[in-house]
Amino acid sequence: MRVIYSDPESSKVGLYKSILEEAGILCFIQNDNTSRGEVVVPAFYPTLCITDDGRYEEALALLKDIHLAEPVAGADWMCPKCNESVPSSFESCWNCETLKPA
Ligand SMILES: [Zn+2]
Repeated sequence: MRVIYSDPESSKVGLYKSILEEAGILCFIQNDNTSRGEVVVPAFYPTLCITDDGRYEEALALLKDIHLAEPVAGADWMCPKCNESVPSSFESCWNCETLKPA
């Protein structure tokens, strides 16, 4: 077993899992129990693991292609309510749950 990817967004980890599965690479997700709105520390991010270490390089290459095809993540945004800096991938403030301004 080898960890290949970790991200606070479980939907993204799930997407990457389906990509690996389509390529026939056995994989599973650890910590896939995060609920929205909760602050998740990196140690508990949903983590994608492959069961066959021998296919690590192959899996990595697949995900790298997908990753590079994605639009570049935007800058952090500032919460209009509490002025905290929020990572661009968050749809609401991690501190006060105010939704990201349009
Ligand atoms: Zn806030």
